Amino acid sequence: MTGDIRLKATCLALALGAAASAQAATFVIVNNDPPGVGFNDTTPVAPVGNNPETTLGAQRLFAVQFVTDTWGALLESPVTIEVRTQWVDLTCTQNSAVLGSAGPISVNRDFPNAPESNTWYPIALANSLEGADAIPPDPDINMNININIDGDPGCLGGATWYLGLDDNNPGGTVDIVPLVLHELGHGLGFLTLVNSADGTLFSGRNDIYMLNLRDTEVDLDWDEMDNAQRQASAINDPDLVWTGPNVTANASSFVGQASAFSDGFMRMNAPDPLQPGSSVSHWAAGPWTLLMEPSLSGALFDEVDLTIDLFADIGWQTTVATDVIFADGFE
Ligand SMILES: [Zn+2]
Repeated sequence: MTGDIRLKATCLALALGAAASAQAATFVIVNNDPPGVGFNDTTPVAPVGNNPETTLGAQRLFAVQFVTDTWGALLESPVTIEVRTQWVDLTCTQNSAVLGSAGPISVNRDFPNAPESNTWYPIALANSLEGADAIPPDPDINMNININIDGDPGCLGGATWYLGLDDNNPGGTVDIVPLVLHELGHGLGFLTLVNSADGTLFSGRNDIYMLNLRDTEVDLDWDEMDNAQRQASAINDPDLVWTGPNVTANASSFVGQASAFSDGFMRMNAPDPLQPGSSVSHWAAGPWTLLMEPSLSGALFDEVDLTIDLFADIGWQTTVATDVIFADGFE
């Protein structure tokens, strides 16, 4: 009898969780730029590539909203995802640049419906699973976009952002669509909270991303390791891999090169020496083109490819089957 009651209670909780998350996610961009800068730049511009806006700031905002809408159509969440965004001074040299950066503003654990106990989840994912906004006044994701890519000859040879939405950027421009798609990938959960420089856990607990990491040389999962072992694994190319079942089942649909795999698992980026911001929280760099590689490929535009499988592995409910191959965009 007691067991029967427990079973009913469990089923109820599962049903509520499913009902709460069965809707596409809504994203809101929180414009964090000062007057006249970034999204607030009133410089007149001509419409470009299906972007109808006629000031630089409004055109930037329209392009970023296009990308958040793209993610919103793929992920389920009953809680609005707020992306605090600013155009800021990031590194740019003649030959390379940090195009942007992003991450979750906060994390949560042991919330109602949490799939794994005692485990950190990025706040947008935690909220979607809980079906409630755990920290209502705060945005969920912080995103920076490099404002220096504006024609300065010392920055990528004078490149400018291409704010069109049509995958038709001319030479000398950088597509903003794949950049924002990539950065939001990090903000939504494509990153570990482990300090890869010393192997320590964030605030003493596992995170949902690192529960999918394994080192195939020592044959240990990251949650089975001590700090020194994780530190060593973070620079142990080509043996750091992702073990989540969705990625493992579908990776070969997106990636043909045997060098992308170790023991049948997708490799994660683990160069020696460590590359902070690049190591662990990207696929291993290779001659293929996936959205979440350390460097943006010019061949990418609005496809999220294997990212959606990794998201399913960390707990996101998706609106699309994870074994779908987005051969030509997903509009
Ligand atoms: Zn990245």
